[in-house]
Amino acid sequence: MSVMDRATAAPATGSSRSLIDPFGRAITYLRVSVTDRCDFRCVYCMAENMTFLPKADLLTLEELDRLCSTFVRMGVRKLRLTGGEPLVRRGIMGLFAALSRHLKTGALDELTVTTNASQLAKHAEELAGYGVKRVNVSLDTLDRDKFVAITRWGKYDQVMDGIRAAKAAGMRVKINTVALKGVNDDEVDHLIEWCGAEGHDLTFIEVMPMGDIGGERRLDQYLPLTSLRRDIEQRWTLTDLNVTTGGPARYAGIAETGGRLGFITPLTHNFCEGCNRVRITCTGTLYMCLGQDDAADLRAPLRANPDDDAPLEAAILGAVARKPKGHDFVIDRDNTGPAVSRHMSVTGG
Ligand code: SAM
Ligand code: SF4
Repeated sequence: MSVMDRATAAPATGSSRSLIDPFGRAITYLRVSVTDRCDFRCVYCMAENMTFLPKADLLTLEELDRLCSTFVRMGVRKLRLTGGEPLVRRGIMGLFAALSRHLKTGALDELTVTTNASQLAKHAEELAGYGVKRVNVSLDTLDRDKFVAITRWGKYDQVMDGIRAAKAAGMRVKINTVALKGVNDDEVDHLIEWCGAEGHDLTFIEVMPMGDIGGERRLDQYLPLTSLRRDIEQRWTLTDLNVTTGGPARYAGIAETGGRLGFITPLTHNFCEGCNRVRITCTGTLYMCLGQDDAADLRAPLRANPDDDAPLEAAILGAVARKPKGHDFVIDRDNTGPAVSRHMSVTGG
């Protein structure tokens, strides 16, 4: 069955095998990296010369659909497609179309995407049509020259067009900005003002020690958000909000703009205790924690049993039973290398 045929297929019958980890956390959120490739080379994410996986190793769109649908049957309520850059994968709209059937049946609460927005102008309306209500767009600067310096290969106008198209299509946009010392820390006010004026939420992220990034050194990039927040509070009135999106971000309201400001602080304060998520790579490897190496191969049970999901479900349950308590990210003078060897683009941000 093609991935487009699956869009209209009858829903699979429900499973009672829900996903609870050893610490009692229910796994309701799955992030799926649909490709390791990207049309940008952000300095904190990738080296300029990357070796990507052979295409034959990737799960097909049909296999990704089957995998995601199995997780939905097992209790996942929120799916995020990410990458690499998810919108550069050929045929990806077919996967959104197929997965949107779970929104229609009510099995899924949210289908969403994290993107660099380079292809968003092309796809925004179609995405909105498949029930995607929110997109996360990664944008670290509003300065053209810095944009090129950070993304190396990115095109600023294309990204801005993409963000405008998403807004015009009725989707909420959250801007994710990696805080980079000496690079964008002087732009914080501009980003807050711009997001406030455009009606976008804004979230700052601490740079995480993942993967070899060539000559760039993490310690040079790392800006603890505790100090960034202190700086922001000199000029803006922040009030902690009691909202959580089930993710690691903690939010504050900004009185002057009426907008929301999020902080993702895996290093200065991790929120692993509330973790509700697992991640799969484009080759079907399940990572139970972004910052740990333990993983489970789901591609083998998926491919070996094309008409029987039971072995796949068993592999998923076995893996969730090993979900660790949390990660151990550290960046300091003694720890400047990666905590895990894979890049963020493998497991998705
Ligand atoms: N290409 C898409 C994008 O950039 O939005 C999706 C994948 S990207 C890996 C997802 C997120 O991870 C982006 O917001 C990016 O800024 C973030 N990211 C990548 N490497 C990171 C790192 N080492 N530390 C913190 N965030 C990182
Ligand atoms: Fe590509 Fe996203 Fe990584 Fe930038 S952060 S290189 S856009 S995957």
